[in-house]
Amino acid sequence: MGAEKNKPTRIVIKIGSSLVTNEGRGLDVEAIKDWANQIISLRTRGYEVILVSSGAVAEGKKRLGWTSKPRVLHQLQAAASVGQVGLVEAYAGSFHEQGVTISQILLTHDDFSDRTRYLNARSTINALLGWGVVPIVNENDTVATAEIQFGDNDTLAALVTNLLEAHLLIILTDQDGLFDLDPRKHKDAKLVRDGKAGDHELEKMASEIPGSHIGSGGMQTKVLAAKRAAASGADTIIASGHENNILLRILDGEKIGTKLKATKIPLDAKRQWLADNLKIKGIVSLDTGAETAIVKDGKSLLPVGVEKVEGTFTRGDLVSCVGPANKEIARGLVNYNSDEAIKLIGITSVKIEEALGYVAEEELIHRNNLVIL
Ligand code: GLU
Repeated sequence: MGAEKNKPTRIVIKIGSSLVTNEGRGLDVEAIKDWANQIISLRTRGYEVILVSSGAVAEGKKRLGWTSKPRVLHQLQAAASVGQVGLVEAYAGSFHEQGVTISQILLTHDDFSDRTRYLNARSTINALLGWGVVPIVNENDTVATAEIQFGDNDTLAALVTNLLEAHLLIILTDQDGLFDLDPRKHKDAKLVRDGKAGDHELEKMASEIPGSHIGSGGMQTKVLAAKRAAASGADTIIASGHENNILLRILDGEKIGTKLKATKIPLDAKRQWLADNLKIKGIVSLDTGAETAIVKDGKSLLPVGVEKVEGTFTRGDLVSCVGPANKEIARGLVNYNSDEAIKLIGITSVKIEEALGYVAEEELIHRNNLVIL
């Protein structure tokens, strides 16, 4: 947790659906009150806290009297709009009792990919934190169709961590942390105490451990969230929300749950936004020379190193750059639309005018708009 001097330590806490709704039986008001009290204690110790809470779909389902989870997306969205009311009421009751104001923030993917909306969300939440309000974030399920869904709140919590440059992400779940085997099936499964965010072995391990049937994430989305949060320098702790005083104990330094440490140098804010922007409009495949130039030499991407262009995009859209090994190596904002980019494949910058009849920029993606992954 690399908090700067004089800057309050900022924490994002994510609580999963299964915990919030007592495994789908209905809002666990006592547990919510308990987490709220811990968050209030943390605030009095000087921490800034943003809460990301799931549970809208599960609570909506309960309120509508459904016994199984519908598969149709708009029915899930409708259930979320019913449940979200109860969710926020429960948090408001617990926080307001102690004189702490909360706010509701509902976000979609689009709010992260559109630079203006992204900056607006950041300023709004920063203003709330400045006033001592506890923002409670969820996905705006009503409008989140498949293409603009985060899908799970682990990803959303990591994006919020990066948006606000928080120092720590705590993911509370119904498991004690990440195990090497599925603890529901293997009695001898061992808890992973420490690891590096972005470790492929841990990601593989997590992919074999399913989540509860109540929420939408599992261990894999949590481990991937840790990788994402690490890009802005935040460590992640995955721990059980059933443990007494879990939040206070974590911040007291007790070794509990799984800690996934951020080990890479944090990206600057603009590159962070590029890396977190999940709306990729196209793919450009690069040759070895271009890969070396952008990854090792810190150069811009020139058309000469491009071998293939896929997708339909306009100038300023985000595209993914794939290396000769067919792996995504970078993302960036393109200077040309997809039709133009196709005409520019493999040509040197001096030939751009000949190919298009004009020159916008000599780079396909300028260094300042490129993030290496
Ligand atoms: N936004 C969903 C809800 O509140 C949660 C998605 C998830 O389970 O992570 O029900």
